[in-house]
Amino acid sequence: MKLIARFKQTRFATLLKKTFFYELYKKDQYRRKRLYRAIRLSGKKSLAEGIIIDKVDVVITTKCNLLCDGCSHLMPYYIKPNHLDKDRVIASMRKLAEAADWFDHFNILGGEPFLNPDLKNIMEAIPDKKSRLVQVLTNATIIPKDPELFDVMRRKGVHVVITPYPSNEKTREPLIAVLEREHVAWNYYERQWTDYGEPRDYRKSPSELRHQFAHCNEICRNLLDGKLYYCFRCAHISDLGYCQHRKGEAVDLLNNTTAQNRKQLHRLMWRHKPLAACQYCLMGTDQNVCIQRGK
Ligand code: SF4
Repeated sequence: MKLIARFKQTRFATLLKKTFFYELYKKDQYRRKRLYRAIRLSGKKSLAEGIIIDKVDVVITTKCNLLCDGCSHLMPYYIKPNHLDKDRVIASMRKLAEAADWFDHFNILGGEPFLNPDLKNIMEAIPDKKSRLVQVLTNATIIPKDPELFDVMRRKGVHVVITPYPSNEKTREPLIAVLEREHVAWNYYERQWTDYGEPRDYRKSPSELRHQFAHCNEICRNLLDGKLYYCFRCAHISDLGYCQHRKGEAVDLLNNTTAQNRKQLHRLMWRHKPLAACQYCLMGTDQNVCIQRGK
């Protein structure tokens, strides 16, 4: 047992855990099935052959009307939250879709996305026939009224994902009623929140960082202001200026050619070294414990 524990600490074990072979053969049946389905739908023969992104979050605003304690996306730390520039969001989604072969989940995210007045224009630009599931994740405190927004959600097959918080107890049911009336699909997201920690330098040693990265199961890539980051934490830690991401931790989609984007995306997907942001994060450590979900 001791030998196995020591092996898990080695660089080789970290590398092994971040390969596509491990992704396909590990015991997580649900994730494995999803990956096999993504390969089949993308028309590629294997994960190695194409750029198949399991989940991508497109951040369209850093404004949120809840600002919950323990927000892993760090929204309460934005002193001047803003809506991302619509044209840059759309251009970066297009560049990403040109470079990638398939997304299993294509998520529109904030902050609170229903606060952004450009939501319908951004949704209109969601790449067609490149993803299995398109979702917008909301805190369900705002009930949209714009018929054009409902129309684009129906045409693009957007699912509204509602997370039950104490603060949306009164608005949740009316929102669901409106979505059903407008024939817009919706579902609940009830995953437990865990503590990613406040954004500060936790002064972990290189071996602690390798161990953390090997145990981090964050699979969602994050598109923020023209760059695709390895994870949402890296995106927001960099954006807030706590530390700068290093070379290879993000792809500058808008300033690259499609060929450059493909090459860099491939490297990003199969990265096996910790990120600069891991030093500012508790995911993959023993301190990443369950916390209350939202306000
Ligand atoms: S910063 Fe590192 S540990 Fe935190 S979620 Fe991203 S990859 Fe995982």
